[in-house]
Parts: sequence; C-alpha cells; structure tokens
Amino acid sequence: MSYLKNRTAYVKSAWQFELRDSEVAMPSHGEILVEVAACGICGTDLHISDRTAKDWQPFGHEVSGIVRSVGIGVTRFQVGDGVALDSSAPCGKCDICLPTPHGRGRPDLCSSTLSFGKIGSMGFGKFVSGPHECAVALPDGMSLETACLTEPIGVSIDLVETAKVNPGDRVLVIGPGPLGLGAVAVAKRAGAEWVGLAGRSSSTARMHAGIELGADQLFEIDKVPLNATDFGIRRPDKILVTAPPSTLEAAIQIAARGGVIAYIGIAFGPGSGIQIDADDFHFRKLSLRGSHASPGTHAQESIQLLAELPKLSEQIISHRFELEDIANAMIQARDDRRTVKKMMMVNPIS
Ligand SMILES: [Zn+2]
Ligand SMILES: [Zn+2]
Repeated sequence: MSYLKNRTAYVKSAWQFELRDSEVAMPSHGEILVEVAACGICGTDLHISDRTAKDWQPFGHEVSGIVRSVGIGVTRFQVGDGVALDSSAPCGKCDICLPTPHGRGRPDLCSSTLSFGKIGSMGFGKFVSGPHECAVALPDGMSLETACLTEPIGVSIDLVETAKVNPGDRVLVIGPGPLGLGAVAVAKRAGAEWVGLAGRSSSTARMHAGIELGADQLFEIDKVPLNATDFGIRRPDKILVTAPPSTLEAAIQIAARGGVIAYIGIAFGPGSGIQIDADDFHFRKLSLRGSHASPGTHAQESIQLLAELPKLSEQIISHRFELEDIANAMIQARDDRRTVKKMMMVNPIS
C-alpha cells in the first residue's frame, strides 16, 4: 500500500492541540482521497477538546475539498472534482437500510455506517480519505467554503424535518449557533408563518445573522426567561432546540397545545437528565423528538439549499484561519461568544 505525506491537527482534552506530520494511505477499493480545502469548527469539536478526547486524536468533520485520487470501483468521481463530505453515510445494504418490504427503509437509522478519516487523517489536515458514499459533488460555481457547510446544514434540515414544520406553523428556534441559524432559514423555506430565535444577548453576531436569515423576532433569554416570554397571538407550534438539555424544560412549558419539540444538543454527563410534568405533557398533547443526523442523509438537499440561498454561507461563516493556527482558533471558538458564528479552516489548494 502506498502513502502520501500529510499534516494533521491532533487534539487531547483538555484543550491541547498538536500538528503532526503524518501519512495517509492512498485510496483502496471504493475510496477517494480528498485534498482538504476547508473544514469548519463544530460544537462537537469543542466538546471533544474539553473532555472526550482522552487520547490524542485527529479531528474535524465538516469538510470540503478536491478529489486527488480514486480507488478501484469508484465511478461517481474523477480526479479534480470538488466535493463536500458528510461525516458518515448509511451502508445501504442492511435490514434497516433496505427499502420495505425487504427491510425497514430507514437508512437514517443504519448502524453499519461508513465514515471517512483514518489513522492520521481527518478534516483539520491537508488530506483525508474515505468511502465515496460520504461525498457529494458540488453544483457548478459553488465555492469550497460554502460547500463546507453541507454537513452542518444537513443537521439543521434533520431538525426541521424531525419537527415536521408545515406552512402556517409558528416556530421558535432556541440557540443561535450555526445549527440554529440554519434551522431558521430551513423553517422559513418550509413555510413557517413566523420564526422566533432565542439566545443570549451577548451572542451579538449570531442574533443579528438570525434576522438576516429570516427570523421575525429575537428573544434575549438572559433578559427575559423563556417561560416568562410573551409570544403574542399563539405560542410556538414547533420548537427547535439547539441548546443543552436543561433548555428542554422551558421549551416544553412554552409550547402551544399539540406542540412538537425537536431537539439536538448533548450534555455529556449529569446535565442530560431533565424533569417533565407528564400529566401536563399528556393533556397538552405535546411531542418531544430527538434529531440526530448521523448517518447523514441530507447532503444532497443541503448542498441544493446552499446553492439557492447564498445568504446562508455569507451569514454563517464569520472567521477563517489556517491549519497552523488551529490551537488559537479553537480557543477563540470557545471564548469569543460575541463575534464567532462559524470558524473555518481554509487551506491553500495546490
Ligand atoms: Zn458538526
Ligand atoms: Zn445500513
């Protein structure tokens, strides 16, 4: 097997970073090798830096780049193609993936997923390799920076679909991070009559971007708690939570009768427990649904949306940095709540 020189960022908790000269294997059967053009910092990267990376590991999963080599059996891509990567893809063959009546027809629940990244290669690096199923081709004219949002916007799409946002719905998005901002735009596109965005007043840039992406009203939850907020003519029918689990208790209290609360957000620890009044939940006919876009099944729709709404990438990407600056960028992503929306590593492409 032949190898290519690589340079990759490694993380170990808490908040230790290292750049290493590594090697990446040339693609084997069904794989592609991608020269990374851009990779976004995600909340998950902050979590693993804070606590879950017990050992040194490469990281970064919101990737776009150029195909530099294709393995045997790959017909979807050629050398030179621009691609966005989804962090994992359904296998397409198991009982869960296969369409009914032979299977369950739910590739989004597949547990035999395919994912890119191997020893010595992940998104914060020069090269990454993985199965072609994780990659999606870019539409003509799309920049590699915009394409890099394919994975996170796929997560926003999953959240809106999980809540089944319909035309006429009043939708509240809690948490103005990139996933929440994406959810504002996706909910509007799904026909929501009114979209509110709730977050801290200190998240200045994120809240402003919410308005630019179509939010009708902002709610500063550090000034007025959600359960004391006046939502006007009707409480929210659909609530999209992209915030820690502790937020769910208030979300349940403020939902309209028949409301659906869809949720993405992880506490990693004791904060994951919540208390609900089950009687009230029953009588108000509420639903609480988990959204988890892994394996990814929305890349095609996501990239389409990014092509149709150039505002999405303009509003979400706030900072760019080079691979060599990964440590400083991670610390800024953790600490600078005022100006950071999405920070993105950008590599010069050879
Ligand atoms: Zn992510
Ligand atoms: Zn499967």
